[in-house]
Amino acid sequence: MAIIKCPDCKKEISSDAESCLNCGKPIKPKASVVKQILIGLGFFIAFAVLILGILLLLISEGNSTLGGIGFVVLVLSGLVILVLANLVGPRKTGP
Ligand SMILES: [Zn+2]
Repeated sequence: MAIIKCPDCKKEISSDAESCLNCGKPIKPKASVVKQILIGLGFFIAFAVLILGILLLLISEGNSTLGGIGFVVLVLSGLVILVLANLVGPRKTGP
């Protein structure tokens, strides 16, 4: 446990606190920063794979094997992006 200064009101608060006791500014714990970096990295890789899938589809003219691989890669990376988006975004309470 350490004492840090609130970035907003400069009042000294515990680094364990989830938010500033004085002004209510949320203090992000280190774990969530690591999680955000991992998710960002995941997005980067997923998008790279997505582009690879699109490229495979584009160059697969007349080659059903390449086209099939490209399609599977495209669908899988799309699913990964959906899962990551669910982790990042606020949980939807839709239908
Ligand atoms: Zn504060």
